[in-house]
Amino acid sequence: MTQLTNSISRTQIEQLVRQALTQEVGGALSAAAPSSAPNPLVVNISARHIHLSQEHLEILFGKGSQLEVQKDLYQDGYFAATQTVAIVGPRRRMIPNVRVLGPCRGDTQVELAFTDTISLGLEIPIRISGDLENTPGCVLMGPKGVVELDKGVIRAARHVHMSPADCAHHGCANGDKLHLRIESHGCTTVLEDVVVRENPEVKLEVHIDTDEGNAVDLDHATSVKLFVPEGCKCKHS
Ligand SMILES: [Zn+2]
Repeated sequence: MTQLTNSISRTQIEQLVRQALTQEVGGALSAAAPSSAPNPLVVNISARHIHLSQEHLEILFGKGSQLEVQKDLYQDGYFAATQTVAIVGPRRRMIPNVRVLGPCRGDTQVELAFTDTISLGLEIPIRISGDLENTPGCVLMGPKGVVELDKGVIRAARHVHMSPADCAHHGCANGDKLHLRIESHGCTTVLEDVVVRENPEVKLEVHIDTDEGNAVDLDHATSVKLFVPEGCKCKHS
């Protein structure tokens, strides 16, 4: 083979590989669900963020402040706000520009990935959103003020939002722990302890944090599958 022929066939091969990869990546986040499944399974990374009470929003951003929508999230009515805050841990370690998610809530809550907690110097428990007793606090800094939280910093437990129809299809109930298999080149993984959060208003969606998403290279995943673990003692419906 001459040098030229060699390089042409190499180019063709590269093109073919690129096409094949593009097709696979295109279906990465919405796995092909069985035809009987009521909804497609979507897996999203929930990057570090903060939920604010209206009171804290006004301390950090000024009296009468409202959250402004930067980008709608997959779940209806929820959004990433234009506002961000800095989070300060012990010994003045800080994470700047942590995105605020809207709408406002009753209690302020900071959700970080494991790597964030290490860089902040905080020991943080894994919790379901809203379960904030005995969690560490931190200091929040906004353009107009500072809030000292005495609790509310968590690593969000990996979870799946499911409607009653999704629960019926998968044979599970609120609070059960499912397995999520993510097929990805060189790092296929089964994530266990995916907590079912049932709500009639939600679209089927798994939330994992940035560390988990990176570990399985979610962006290039070729399939995702949710299943009830064998021998599970959960209260299946
Ligand atoms: Zn969620």
